[in-house]
Amino acid sequence: MAEAIAVGIDVGTSGARAAAVSADGTPIAFATAPFETADETRSPAAWWLRVQKCLTDLSRQTSLSSVRGLAVDGTSGTVLSIDEAGKPLGGVLMYNDPCPDNSVIERIAAVVPTDSPARGANSGLARAIYLANISPGSRVLHQADWIAMQLGLGEAVSDENNALKSGYDLVSEAWPDWIEASGLDTARLPRVARAGAPVGTVGKAGAAFGLSEDCRIHAGTTDGCASFLATGASQTGDAVTALGSTLVLKLASDTPINAAEYGIYAHRVLNFWLVGGASNTGGAVIRKLIGDERLEELTARLDPGRPTGLDYYPLLKRGERFPINDPDHPPRLEPRPEDDALFFQAILEGITNIEKRGYDRLTALGGPKLRSVRTVGGGSRNPVWTAMRQRALGADFLPSRSVEAAVGTASMVLASLERT
Ligand code: ADP
Repeated sequence: MAEAIAVGIDVGTSGARAAAVSADGTPIAFATAPFETADETRSPAAWWLRVQKCLTDLSRQTSLSSVRGLAVDGTSGTVLSIDEAGKPLGGVLMYNDPCPDNSVIERIAAVVPTDSPARGANSGLARAIYLANISPGSRVLHQADWIAMQLGLGEAVSDENNALKSGYDLVSEAWPDWIEASGLDTARLPRVARAGAPVGTVGKAGAAFGLSEDCRIHAGTTDGCASFLATGASQTGDAVTALGSTLVLKLASDTPINAAEYGIYAHRVLNFWLVGGASNTGGAVIRKLIGDERLEELTARLDPGRPTGLDYYPLLKRGERFPINDPDHPPRLEPRPEDDALFFQAILEGITNIEKRGYDRLTALGGPKLRSVRTVGGGSRNPVWTAMRQRALGADFLPSRSVEAAVGTASMVLASLERT
């Protein structure tokens, strides 16, 4: 069996996962340790316990003594506070927790530049300021940063991807001055490295998992960026469409695109910029109006060679952000044909149109021409829809190498090892 060279660790909403890959990026071992209760999702002790379980399990499948580097990805925007010794102080705000203090959001709205991803309801910065306020003297860091500390990193180090929503400036590669103005002393935030950059070694902490002391710890990333890399997408123009409950597009670009009005911002990953947008359309409309149990029967009756011409804009309620920014954008799902196969086809055509407009929007804002598309999520299982989309998008459709974020994080480590 090939040797394990890099390890990726993913701390997600349902548990931890870890993947070991060989020198050519092939996954050779994989472990998962689900959270057992909802409370564990927000417990740093539980995150670490599950990560330890995964690494122990990995080490039973393959020797980890050959591993040269590892990194952690976490849920984007999840923050916690720690004391001087690195011990959590009890406060954790998850990626989808609103900041409990409105005055923090108001202050951010007043001082943070309008195009910053640190603004808005889902601001990681707002969560960080809130936690810093309730635990004076604490340090605040992201989920992935804290796991890296448990793995042997002697200091809090974050990565540009996790730090983006906390306000980190990718141009000056520093925490900007307006963070202080928004109420947080930047000395309380971690140092930030580029995602995947080596930042330390596991040292003695590695022994528990059979890792050598000089196995490197690399700066981590977010679960979203890791999931993109997992698919194998790696060149400018490579895209990943997620057809889950919502429609999410991601594209590797050689220039950053930031368009706050469309919810578009750019992560620096490997040697490209990862840009993307999320529409409110997607499988949730299919699930509500068609129902999962009828999908197979209706798919067999689709006739994509004869478009319905119904020009739907499938939404469950008013409001769209990308590729059209209109909080009042109405759903368009009428007229409804009597035959449900035609109705289903019109919904699929509508979502396909939005996907096409989405990639066109990214290109119009300065992104590259679409080169390839990999598809993940429930909708990727529909071969007729895939053919419809392929015709509309006119790019190569490629299979995904993996849907596991841990594999993407491992491949980020590998890319960094290859450069040094
Ligand atoms: P989530 O975003 O919730 O993780 P999934 O990736 O599991 O979602 O995708 C589920 C969605 O995919 C559902 O809304 C479902 O209706 C849709 N879906 C599943 N199978 C098909 C299919 N064959 N054709 C079209 N849509 C599908």
